[in-house]
Amino acid sequence: MTDNTHTPGFDTLCLHGGHVTECNRAHLTPIYASSTYEFDSAEQAAAIFRGEEKGYIYGRWGNPTITEAEERIAMLEAFGLTDADGTPLQLKAILHASGMAAVATMFMGNVKAGECILTHQSLYGGTHEIIEKILPDMGITHTIVDFHDLAAVEAALKADQSIKLMHIETPANPTLQCVDIAALTAIAKVHGVVVTVDNTFATPYLQQPFAFGVDYVVHSTTKFLNGHGTAIGGILVGRDIARMSTALTKTHRLLGGNSNAFDAFLLVNGLRTLSVRMDRHCANAEKVARFLHDHPAVAKVNYLGLEDHPDHATGKKQMKHPGAMLSFELKGGFDAGVKFMNSLKICLNAVSLGTCDTLLSHPASTTHMGVSREQRLKFGITDGLIRMSVGIENVADIIHDLEQAMM
Ligand SMILES: *Cc1c(COP(=O)(O)O)cnc(C)c1O
Repeated sequence: MTDNTHTPGFDTLCLHGGHVTECNRAHLTPIYASSTYEFDSAEQAAAIFRGEEKGYIYGRWGNPTITEAEERIAMLEAFGLTDADGTPLQLKAILHASGMAAVATMFMGNVKAGECILTHQSLYGGTHEIIEKILPDMGITHTIVDFHDLAAVEAALKADQSIKLMHIETPANPTLQCVDIAALTAIAKVHGVVVTVDNTFATPYLQQPFAFGVDYVVHSTTKFLNGHGTAIGGILVGRDIARMSTALTKTHRLLGGNSNAFDAFLLVNGLRTLSVRMDRHCANAEKVARFLHDHPAVAKVNYLGLEDHPDHATGKKQMKHPGAMLSFELKGGFDAGVKFMNSLKICLNAVSLGTCDTLLSHPASTTHMGVSREQRLKFGITDGLIRMSVGIENVADIIHDLEQAMM
């Protein structure tokens, strides 16, 4: 990876990005299961503490397995992008115990008491809850605006000088809403507001928010980046290297939401196949979406790749492909949803997404059973809505399974 005359491609970076040959020349960076690291001398310890010499100190602050995951994801998010002066974009990433730990660092490291977060309705449930239930007690408020309405966004920013951060999630649950990252960022930057994007559904293979001038990208690495459903994790990626190395590193270390060597190892190995998995995920999702679209038991399919999705054009503008997530409404409502889930034979009934195998869930009878029907419908979660993360099985088998479960 040190050849200056040739720039490696995305697939190659998935395999080798950030890999450093360790002292025993292990092909794969080992699981560094060590809570602390020895110093050769008091002088070396002091130099490492001062940051003059590279070296690990304590497991909560990082280890070589974690570093590899961080460097690789930073390279993938920066792939092919340049800074304002034309030099290759440099990003810094911090791996966390979960997507939510990364979200917590991102908000708490960027917003103080008395300040406000501007965001939209279609957020991941946990992100919505941290904004609604945790941050207000710390003096951090929020304003929710429909991010499709750029005039409303502009008006909100003009009206409230305390807005310091705009948080975007696109595409998002449950109807795969997609908002214009470039347009939103342009407005935010006029008002000096920090822009953060949750890129979990798309991955850097399909969408690179840093291309549109955003400041931070966050991922639940639990999903497509790990890809195998073997570990929980989250990553915060930032373009201001100095702030990432100081304020955000401090917030990360002191909140204690660090990852661990084993989960980092699983993530690094999952990342090796990201692009080939995504190609298959996407190709299968397109076929599944068309199948559902034409099926008489299905009232509606929410898939960004279908021309009738309201955000189809926005998705096309900023994503390389509409991705592997979709949802659909069964005509038979709640009972049809329950019967359908009980009839699946290959596809799995499970929450989460982005694993190699196809996962489906029926929000009305599971994740949203505690939410009032009226509230649910407001979010687009109808009684017969099924969410689907299309896997990499033979697509004929996925479609056959859906077909027999809808009989
Ligand atoms: C899963 C998810 C999260 C939270 O990540 P965890 O790893 O479960 O903590 C955040 N954002 C999105 C879009 C997600 O899908």
